[in-house]
Amino acid sequence: MHCKKATFLLSKREENKLTWLEQVQLRTHLGLCGACKHFEKQTMIITCLVKEIRQKETLPENIKQQIQSQLR
Ligand SMILES: [Zn+2]
Repeated sequence: MHCKKATFLLSKREENKLTWLEQVQLRTHLGLCGACKHFEKQTMIITCLVKEIRQKETLPENIKQQIQSQLR
């Protein structure tokens, strides 16, 4: 599998849309590819942050914007 496909599957996984086969393919690729493993970690951190931002609606507007601009 190409790295491009792997990163595509990683973003698809965040929406829980992977098939069984895709999950296996992704696992295999991540086991072999350091770059994608690193990308996976970043994706997880970003997903976590986004969830937190959504939960913390009381967060001051300027701080929310600061966090969101960091994610771009
Ligand atoms: Zn890769």
